[in-house]
Amino acid sequence: MNRRPTREVRVGRIGLGGKNPVRIQSMTTAAPEDVEGTVEECLRLAAAGCELTRISTPKTLDAARLEQVRTRLRERSIGTPLVADIHYLPAAALRAAETADKVRINPGNFADARFGREVVYSEEMYAAELRRIEKKARPLFEELKKRRKPLRIGANHGSLSKRILCRYGDTPKGMVESAMEYLRIGEKLGYFDFVLSMKASNPRVMAQAYRLLRLEMEKEGMEYPLHVGVTEAGEGEDGRIRSAVGIGAVLAEGLGDTIRVSLAEPPENEIPVCREIIRVFEEAKGNGAGPIRLLEPRRKASAVENLGGSSPVRILGEYGKEEIGECEIPVEGSIRAGGTWRDISDEEPLPRELPPAEVYRARISDAGAALSFVREVVRRIGPAPLILSYDVDRRPEGVSPEVAAAIALGVPLIEGFGDGIEVRSSGNAGRIPLSPSERHSLAIGVLQNSLTRISRVEIIACPSCGRTLFDLPEVTQIIKKRFSHLKGVRIAVMGCIVNGPGEMADADFGFVGGAPGKINLYRGRECVEKGVPIAEAYERMRDLIAASGRWVDP
Ligand code: SF4
Repeated sequence: MNRRPTREVRVGRIGLGGKNPVRIQSMTTAAPEDVEGTVEECLRLAAAGCELTRISTPKTLDAARLEQVRTRLRERSIGTPLVADIHYLPAAALRAAETADKVRINPGNFADARFGREVVYSEEMYAAELRRIEKKARPLFEELKKRRKPLRIGANHGSLSKRILCRYGDTPKGMVESAMEYLRIGEKLGYFDFVLSMKASNPRVMAQAYRLLRLEMEKEGMEYPLHVGVTEAGEGEDGRIRSAVGIGAVLAEGLGDTIRVSLAEPPENEIPVCREIIRVFEEAKGNGAGPIRLLEPRRKASAVENLGGSSPVRILGEYGKEEIGECEIPVEGSIRAGGTWRDISDEEPLPRELPPAEVYRARISDAGAALSFVREVVRRIGPAPLILSYDVDRRPEGVSPEVAAAIALGVPLIEGFGDGIEVRSSGNAGRIPLSPSERHSLAIGVLQNSLTRISRVEIIACPSCGRTLFDLPEVTQIIKKRFSHLKGVRIAVMGCIVNGPGEMADADFGFVGGAPGKINLYRGRECVEKGVPIAEAYERMRDLIAASGRWVDP
């Protein structure tokens, strides 16, 4: 697994970045005041193999409670480093600097307001703002420096400060700049133990932000380690695919020192998925080579019947139209009778010149090296359409078909490559081949979660944490079931109003915990109903969708 060099920081007993392995981490979901519940989750996470555990500490008192959690864990011989998750309160961060092994702050809300009227900042005004941030952040940097503890600057798409939004918009550039400001201030004060993250629920946005961040850091001679994750990825197969696409697109560039998969499920479920993603890259024969590339719009390919040109990315398979009903290109021959097709395999050396063909198919067997392979193929095929084809039964041992296919196909897709995808299942290594409908469903999942082609409702669910005000996995399931037929509608399910509205990014509708057992309903960023009892909230959400003209009967 190729990784670009980063500076090592120490988090409690473990090293992060440098030559250390990619660390696996997660976050507890128990309420901050529930010490026993938090300890129980930490134990389950440790048993699953979690190497760093983050705990929500919204108030100063919660930051102090970390000490109790640590003591209980030590009594059971668990030494997993604990990370305090801070939003809004510099005082809580300062207290956490004493009790936690690492502190995470959100640069969008640590010293800044998120909302307010739009302001055009002159250079002087902007510089004055930076001086104000320095004043607010200085005590934290000094405390962490004294204690030699790391700080994660965790920027989130959708929760950038008003100042950043006014200058850069809600963009990868804004996310990067939001973190770079803190890095410059910290370095000026002699503090260097940073970890950075650039999370978004949109894998394209987050992958672009991480790559851009690394380029910006390189310009300023910085090599800080990266914590990589997709926020609000949801649950089940979709959550796993979306996480693997986004995290995979960063690891494929040789970036990433620790990863977290954010699922709306019990936190220990995240650990095996992290392990699977890392495994794919450990087994890869090439990733992260050459200069870092930023994501581009979809490559323009010539049109060959219903492939390439302005056609959406197609699903190819020998499944048969009759059997599946949705497959648009049932067999190879239907692309164009008599046309030339050329297969290119990643198991054979790529010739400098490829024989001409109307359609090329990149046959991928090494998921972790798929991006490098596809980039090379694209350099050689001119404008001909390209099918990305992956045999899921060539996946590494211990990796699920969805994680492997997400990386093999989804990562090149968000890079803008591919006019069609194909999921094969050869039964290699004695595996039971996937059925045609399983392969088709997996292909749909990859297109949906790489946001290449939306064919069903999109649920953005926060992973829940100590602030969550309802049973998030259960509610997410109910929402998914009731609204699954609403093709292209984006519904966010967020556990609290502290961060939920800001982090639901560009969802069309929001189902947000407003108080225990009560829901606030959102249309875009606008809160349209507050305090709806949860049992009534589903029907009210339906009414809201209908009133917005987006409802269709199942
Ligand atoms: S939206 Fe609220 S409940 Fe959900 S993870 Fe973020 S802070 Fe926690």
